[in-house]
Amino acid sequence: MTARFLVRLDDACATMRAPIWQPLEQALDEMGIRPIVGVIPDNRDPTLACSPPDPDFWNRVRSWQAKGWSVAMHGHHHLYHPIPAGARALLDMSDKSEFVGRSLEKQRESLREAYKTMLAQGVTPGLFMAPSHTFDAGTLQALRDVTGIRVVTDGHALRVFEKDGFTWIPQQLWRFARMPFGLWCVCLHPNTMTEAALRAFVDDLKRFAHRVTDVPTVLRDVGPRSALDLAFSLAYPMALQLKRRLRRV
Ligand SMILES: [Zn+2]
Repeated sequence: MTARFLVRLDDACATMRAPIWQPLEQALDEMGIRPIVGVIPDNRDPTLACSPPDPDFWNRVRSWQAKGWSVAMHGHHHLYHPIPAGARALLDMSDKSEFVGRSLEKQRESLREAYKTMLAQGVTPGLFMAPSHTFDAGTLQALRDVTGIRVVTDGHALRVFEKDGFTWIPQQLWRFARMPFGLWCVCLHPNTMTEAALRAFVDDLKRFAHRVTDVPTVLRDVGPRSALDLAFSLAYPMALQLKRRLRRV
């Protein structure tokens, strides 16, 4: 048993940071790696205005789709609200969200618009990627009701699993690390990467490329969660919290 990795790129939009995204795409192409790419259907998040709007953006997304990248629908507007008291996110990853705590009707409206926007551009997202990894049971219900998406890129496990009518492709890392086994998804935010961080990532990628797989391959390997997966899903959030606390000290 060997570890395998997926690469996930977050926050693609018309104003993404071109001087990072372009060489990153070239490096992935050279190594034959097909990542998950989270596309924001209608970005309104001012913090993602990194480069002048690219009039060719949707063409670029269609070209990603054509070359086998796995396009994910990354929320709708990428705008956050504080998670209201009493609302419960499925993963405890952030205190703000685009979806958690909103009514089912509001979530349906938002996801219907988001999905329609992508389809109108000739892009069929196969996965859902929640901004800040935050979504709730209503988000999944709304996705089922108004989209064809049945795969989520998130979750704390060691391999792909089925839950709540969705296939979950776990996401646990923000850089490559040697692992003995399991499926590990490395999440990147190219809009906030420096050129030095990009170079370091590409160096890592060269070392790990032979272990990097893609979404169609891992979806052939879906099974029920094992005891080890369940143990990991309990231990992982504790490890994350500990890391956050240590950072604060
Ligand atoms: Zn995002």
